[in-house]
Amino acid sequence: MKPSELVSGENGYVVEPARRIPVVRDVDVLVCGGGVSGIGAALGAARAGARTMVLERNAFLGGAATAVIMNTWNVPIPRMTGVAREIATELTARGAGVAGGPTFPFDPEGMKSLAVEMLQAEGVEILNYTWVVDPIMEGDRIRGVVIQNKSGRQAILARCVVDATGDADIAAAAGAEHVKGRESDGKMRPMSVLFRLGGVDVQRVVEYCRSQPKENFTADPNFHILEPEKGLVRFSGFFDIAERARAAGELPPEVHYLRMEGVDVERGIVTVNNARVYGVDGTNAWDVTRADIEARRQNRMIFDVIRRDIPGFEKAFVLDSSPTVGVRETRRVRGRYLLTQDDNQAQRRFRDSTVRVWRHMAAGRDWHKAEGGEGAPNDAVYRTATTELTWFEIPWGVFLPNGVEGMTVGGRVLSVSHDADMWTRGQYCCLVTGQVAGVAAGLAAKRNSVPSALEVETLQRALTEQGVDIGSAGRNADEPAEEAAV
Ligand SMILES: Cc1cc2nc3c(=O)[nH]c(=O)nc-3n(C[C@H](O)[C@H](O)[C@H](O)COP(=O)(O)OP(=O)(O)OC[C@H]3O[C@@H](n4cnc5c(N)ncnc54)[C@H](O)[C@@H]3O)c2cc1C
Repeated sequence: MKPSELVSGENGYVVEPARRIPVVRDVDVLVCGGGVSGIGAALGAARAGARTMVLERNAFLGGAATAVIMNTWNVPIPRMTGVAREIATELTARGAGVAGGPTFPFDPEGMKSLAVEMLQAEGVEILNYTWVVDPIMEGDRIRGVVIQNKSGRQAILARCVVDATGDADIAAAAGAEHVKGRESDGKMRPMSVLFRLGGVDVQRVVEYCRSQPKENFTADPNFHILEPEKGLVRFSGFFDIAERARAAGELPPEVHYLRMEGVDVERGIVTVNNARVYGVDGTNAWDVTRADIEARRQNRMIFDVIRRDIPGFEKAFVLDSSPTVGVRETRRVRGRYLLTQDDNQAQRRFRDSTVRVWRHMAAGRDWHKAEGGEGAPNDAVYRTATTELTWFEIPWGVFLPNGVEGMTVGGRVLSVSHDADMWTRGQYCCLVTGQVAGVAAGLAAKRNSVPSALEVETLQRALTEQGVDIGSAGRNADEPAEEAAV
């Protein structure tokens, strides 16, 4: 192969020569990205009868659920649907998840192995350690992708492609309409590196929390949970400690509260989700590196304060930290429909609804504001309780990016507004939207057609068969939503 050439006179560029690259696979559905949405998509497509392959740049599947060790779904298992409920139930059966609470904490290692087992059981081919670098186009229809890995540069062809990269890498490169960040100013939610502490006396921390004024903690009962008897513990707040340490320069200015979740009561393990890096772009490698370094610097300060100031953490040690920085928001496509927070708040029912999702949702309740100040004294979100669990429906149009055929999107990439993304970005939701994207791609591929040509009723039938609650489209209009959910 001819190497790239430095061409004199071409300021700032080198010329990459054209080359023939081998086609190493030709599949029905190619899922780009193996995070929770990619896992859902691969399962959905394979169960729809499609020969399915998933590509992932990391060494393992799971995306933020494993590579960021982010291990709490903010919804109880009975309100989950589709593959999300299946995975949560199986993790619990394996002792890798705690059922029974308003949220579902799990062990990221359990998720890693379960994801592989489930995909292999459906005959999905997994290729890790592989970057997807380019779409292969035929007009406006995607026909596959170019990959780069230790084996070099190769091509994989597919009848349909699912973009589950979280960043819409493939959709954007294929020419799909998209936005990055908040519509008004392009700002994005902060990035974090998480770390886990071992050697925590959880019972002692709980007793300390119980002895303190409740104003010192997040008012939301889903974020601050003190039920060690049931194995259900989550800490959020310690406002007094945080403000004191911040004022003394012992905590980063971005950190206004202390937050620990995914608590394993028996083994004394907690996940600290506290570093916040603002003003960085997850589609820029320099920003991602800067954010990773900065978050780890913040974490060293946070750990020192937690160990020194919170009773029960005296013997705590850093067990591990997330292998990658957690990117909360980047690109989202613009598709046939744009789901907004107004739709969610109004509990709008869609004739082409594909899934109904439950969240502790309320207008303006943004847990990770792009402008910062998360948990600060004037941040009402952390000082007031959430309203009850409520639902919203996701219509078919949000899965179909404008400008590209042969593609569906799932997870963070969906066509939703920044404020609606607050609710669709949850892992449980990403798993199920991935499943919808996968089922649609699978059905289209089996007909040698494109997803946009699918009749929505066919998709809805297949989703129902796969155990997805498709929302009001699947029920009589006068049937109460709550009764149909569990
Ligand atoms: C710090 C943090 C805390 C969070 N807290 C919570 C929480 O408490 N509860 C909750 O439910 N949700 C939480 N979320 C949100 C949730 O975890 C994510 O929105 C969700 O996991 C996104 O899933 P996804 O599959 O769409 O994307 P990702 O998880 O980002 O997965 C995308 C996958 O694609 C791979 N990929 C990307 N580009 C390429 C490429 N070009 N080639 C090959 N592979 C590629 C990535 O490696 C990754 O594995 C949090 C997120 C973060 C970052």
